[in-house]
Amino acid sequence: MIYKRSSALFSEAEKVIPGGVNSPVRAFKAVGGTPIFVEKAKGAYLYDADGNQLIDYINSWGPMILGHAFTPVVQAVIEKAKLGTSYGMPTEVETKIAQLAVSMVPNIDKIRFVNSGTEACMSAVRLARGFTGKDKIIKFAGCYHGHSDSFLIQAGSGAVTFGSPNSPGVTIGTAKDTLLAQFNNLESVEQLVKANENEIACIIVEPVPGNMGCIPPNKGFLEGLRTLCDENGVLLIFDEVMTGFRLAKGGAQERLEVNADIVCFGKVIGGGLPVGAFASRNEIMKFLAPEGPVYQAGTLSGNPLAMAAGLAMLTELDENPSIFESLDEKTAYLHKGLSKVFESNQIVHTINRIGSMISVHFSEENVVDFESAALGNNENFKQFFHGMLQEGVYIAPSSFETWFLTDALTYKDLDFTIAACERVVQKMK
Ligand code: PMP
Repeated sequence: MIYKRSSALFSEAEKVIPGGVNSPVRAFKAVGGTPIFVEKAKGAYLYDADGNQLIDYINSWGPMILGHAFTPVVQAVIEKAKLGTSYGMPTEVETKIAQLAVSMVPNIDKIRFVNSGTEACMSAVRLARGFTGKDKIIKFAGCYHGHSDSFLIQAGSGAVTFGSPNSPGVTIGTAKDTLLAQFNNLESVEQLVKANENEIACIIVEPVPGNMGCIPPNKGFLEGLRTLCDENGVLLIFDEVMTGFRLAKGGAQERLEVNADIVCFGKVIGGGLPVGAFASRNEIMKFLAPEGPVYQAGTLSGNPLAMAAGLAMLTELDENPSIFESLDEKTAYLHKGLSKVFESNQIVHTINRIGSMISVHFSEENVVDFESAALGNNENFKQFFHGMLQEGVYIAPSSFETWFLTDALTYKDLDFTIAACERVVQKMK
C-alpha cells in the first residue's frame, strides 16, 4: 500500500501544528514513519487520503464500539445540528442520557458531563479531595488518566511512548501529592496508605489498564483496593474511560463485580463526539457546584450534539446487550488466531485480553504491570506494526496501547487479519 498523500499532508501539518498532530500518539514516533491521514470511515474500515482501505483496530481509541459512522448516531447528530449547535443552557437530552447512564451502570445516582476523559478524571479527583478534605492521591505506574498535571507522574500511553511519563511543566508541589503504586501489587498500595495515614483522598485506577497495553487485574487486586479504601476512609475512583460501556453495559464494575466510589467515563459514552463524564452516589455528588462547594464547569459541557450522539450509542448498547457477547467472541477468535500464528512461527509473545480489549506484547514474561509491559521487544513491534499496515490492517502505533474491537468487524475481517499476521510474521523470522 502507498501512503504518499498522507506523507505530504503530514509535512504540511508539521508546519502549523506541533509535531503535525493534535495528540502525540498519533504521530507514529514509537514505530517510525508518518501517520495515516483519514478521509472517511464506515463500519470496520478506514479510508485514507491515498484511497487505501484499512481494517481499523483502534476505532478512535475506543469510542466506535459499533463501527464508524453508525447510522443512529450520525442521524441523531444531523437532526440536532439543524436545531443549533450549542446554547450554554440546559436541554432535555442531557437528562435523557444521564437517566440512561445511571440505569446502566451499577451504584451511581448522578452523573456530570464534561468534554473529555481528562476533564472527567481531573474533576473526579477534585471532588474526592473536596469530599474527604485530604490532598494526596495514589495512582499506578503506567496508568493514564489524561494530561492533567497530577496524573503525569509515571503515566502510560503516549506519555511513556514519548519518554515523558513525568512531564516538564508539572510543578514539584503538584507531583508530591501524587503517590505511585504498582498495578496488581496490593502490598505497594498498602505501604503507601500506611505511610500516609489520614492524608489520602483517593486511589485512582484503570480497573483494566489499557494504557500499557491491556492488563487484566489479578484476582483479588481490585477487591483488595476496595477493602483498603473502606478501612481507611479513602475513595476508590475507577477510571472507566476505556472500559465503560465496553466491557459490559455497566463497564468494569459490572464485569469484575467491584464497585468504585466515583467512576469516570469517556470514549463510548460520547459516541465519537468529545464527551467525558464522572458519576457517583448522591452523598458525594452533592459536594459538586452548584449544589456544593467543589467547583467544576464547562461552556460546552452537555453539548446537544455530543449528548445526542452519546444517547444514540448508549441506547443501542442498552437495547442489544448481546453486542457485548458478540464482541467478546470475536476478540477471543482473533486472540486464538494470532496466538496460533505466533506460536507456529516461534515468535516470543504474550497476548493479553479481556472482553473486546486486546494487546500483543513481544515478550516472554507475563505482562501484569508497567515494568513487565516495558520488557517487550520494540523492534519486533515496529516490524509487526508496519507489516500489518502494509497489509491494510491498522493497529495501535505503540505497544503501550490497546486494540479496541468493534462489533462491525466480521469473521471474514478477522480471518483476513490473522492471514495478514501470518504473512507479516514470516518476514519477521
Ligand atoms: N483515562 C483513560 C483510561 C484513558 O485511556 C484516556 C485517554 N486515552 C483518558 C483518561 C483521557 O481521555 P481524553 O483523551 O478524552 O482526555
